[in-house]
Amino acid sequence: MTRVLILGGTTEAGLLARAVAEAGIPAIYSYAGRTASPVRQPLATRVGGFGGPQGLADFLRAEAITAVVDATHPFAARMSANAVAACAATGVPLAAFEREPWRPRPGDDWRRVPDIDAAVAALAGEPARVFLALGRLHLAAFAAAPQHDYLLRLVDAPTTPLPLPNARAVIARGPFTIEDDISLLRSHAIELVVAKNAGGVGASAKLDAARHLSLPVILIDRPYVPERLVLRSLAEVMAWLGHDVPPETLRGV
Ligand code: NAP
Repeated sequence: MTRVLILGGTTEAGLLARAVAEAGIPAIYSYAGRTASPVRQPLATRVGGFGGPQGLADFLRAEAITAVVDATHPFAARMSANAVAACAATGVPLAAFEREPWRPRPGDDWRRVPDIDAAVAALAGEPARVFLALGRLHLAAFAAAPQHDYLLRLVDAPTTPLPLPNARAVIARGPFTIEDDISLLRSHAIELVVAKNAGGVGASAKLDAARHLSLPVILIDRPYVPERLVLRSLAEVMAWLGHDVPPETLRGV
């Protein structure tokens, strides 16, 4: 019998959870547990790390999982590598549900960098008002460029002091519209945006807003993930699971 594990924490994973639930496919949704109040899913949900590739392999066996869909964020490279290793060790089929990376459009002023450290290095120079669209975990690295005035957007209000000397946080959960992000960048007089090349629609508004306002963007490329089957659409993932997407699900996409 089919029993799917969805590695989640993204808009795509939420869409998949809905389609899988509506198709009646037995499945477990897994959150890392990074946010205080994760979005409720219409599936059995577990929270927290598995304990590395070995822990995940043990989980797959114990829960009799027959297919894994890695729908984590493209920057969740450790989880994705663990999924490749654990699925290879157990023989459980694995597919990644991964958004296409963003590609530049006319009017974009992108400076592409390979990783967070390179983004910090690219910020050497005169003080500026910077929108750091990165999430809480990567902020500390930017303490090496303390001359800037940073704007952060976080899902949860910080419970400890921010690791940057001049930083303010707005608390909000995406997806955001281009109007939201133009107004955010304007109201904070932002001069430069730093973002990860996450891809997808839910997080692209900040890049659309930067283009609209002719602001430069330091865009961090995706990290390396070992080779695996990559599927780009909900319909492809559902077909891989042996099901069509229920029409009522597609209506909401
Ligand atoms: P990561 O660095 O690749 O993962 C670190 C560890 O967290 C993994 O080794 C695993 O612990 C645990 N983990 C990650 N995702 C998990 C999941 N879905 N279920 C159970 N355990 C998970 O990941 P990350 O970048 O910290 O991302 C954590 C979560 O936030 C992911 O679910 C991701 O989809 C979501 N997210 C990440 C970003 C981002 O920019 N990185 C943005 C939006 C959402 P064990 O080794 O103990 O199993």
